[in-house]
Amino acid sequence: MKILIQKFGGTSVSTPERRRLVVEKVIKARNDGYSTVIVVSAMGRKGEPYATDTLLSLLSNSFKENNLLVTDLLMCCGEIISSVVMCEELVNSNVKSVPLTGGQAGIITDDTFGNAALKRVDTENILKLLNEGIVPVVTGFQGITPDGYFTTLGRGGSDVTAAILGAALKAEKVEIYTDVDGIMTADPRIVKDAALIKKISYNEVFQFADQGAKVIHPRAVEIAMSASVTLAIKNTMNDCEGTLIGSFAENSVVNIITGITHLDNRLQIKIGQKENIDNKNYHSVLEILARNSISIDLINVFPHEQIFTVDSKNKKFVDEIMKQLDLKYDFTENCSKIAIIGSGMRGIPGVMARILKAIYAEDIEVFQTADSHTTIWCLVESKNAQKCINALHKEFKLGS
Ligand code: ADP
Ligand code: MG
Repeated sequence: MKILIQKFGGTSVSTPERRRLVVEKVIKARNDGYSTVIVVSAMGRKGEPYATDTLLSLLSNSFKENNLLVTDLLMCCGEIISSVVMCEELVNSNVKSVPLTGGQAGIITDDTFGNAALKRVDTENILKLLNEGIVPVVTGFQGITPDGYFTTLGRGGSDVTAAILGAALKAEKVEIYTDVDGIMTADPRIVKDAALIKKISYNEVFQFADQGAKVIHPRAVEIAMSASVTLAIKNTMNDCEGTLIGSFAENSVVNIITGITHLDNRLQIKIGQKENIDNKNYHSVLEILARNSISIDLINVFPHEQIFTVDSKNKKFVDEIMKQLDLKYDFTENCSKIAIIGSGMRGIPGVMARILKAIYAEDIEVFQTADSHTTIWCLVESKNAQKCINALHKEFKLGS
């Protein structure tokens, strides 16, 4: 049996017209000889009646924070509605179909409500349906604990469901359908002439996803990579070939830079040694923050100061810790971390210099930089992020 996983995101299942396009994709896959498993997200985006954020607004923030088990059950409702509605659409087109919750699809997780980790996948139920020629419509983003509580896999988790099923069912391919043609050289909402990337390695796409490109969940990339399942990102609204993700050799890379993405809501923190001269906590602050589960990045340590960034949602907590440690510090809010990604930059001199020159030409100040073999990061004020991304996109001639 040739198995194909087809995952449809929130915008792809939001209207009857779009759901009919979904049915066409499913029928085409079946005509091509695939046994297909559908994974759906909740219908629509924030503000629409059955979208996850709309459901979440039914509960107060304080209740949600203290009742993660209950919140997960509420969050699961969006995908359940979506799978039922999609099932009717398929049945109306004479495609036999059964909606399945995460648990019915055999996705067994631990009880970390809100961000559950996979324990195992029991594939019997899905395989039985596939053997009978029935299309399972699996609710994305959810699982079940061994004792029967509904869990969710973290925001954007429908991609993760698709990858989990792809790996467990040894699918030939996992197709992620969304509202853009595939992975582009930059978010097409930010860069008008962003170009489609036709082929990309798991490693590079993981960088994209991890550094803010919403188009696929980083964990889905990791799961697909470790199971060697090919991923494809496609547009529900057209027949564009999309982006193919696999273990492509990096020597096939032709450009220095593959693309640019960014993460907003970064808070830069500077701790000077002079201001904290007799404070023994100065040298252990990074370790103490890590022990408090605050993830830090862009870390630069100099003899006279330490600089790093955190997610701004941690601002209050970081402030409390600094007060407890009696450390004086400065911070800059509203920063964005621009990630310039490309395995082609490995061993090429002068890439950082070229990036900085292009940013300075726009009169944008760079607060911090960092680099690895395949990514260069620049921290800028969020109000300059779009201008900065467009300047770099142009500098490296990434446009279509
Ligand atoms: P879905 O609801 O289908 O899961 P998402 O909103 O999660 O869709 O992801 C698709 C969005 O990702 C696009 O609408 C696009 O604005 C955004 N995006 C960000 N970076 C990129 C990129 N490099 N390539 C393509 N899309 C991107
Ligand atoms: Mg998504």
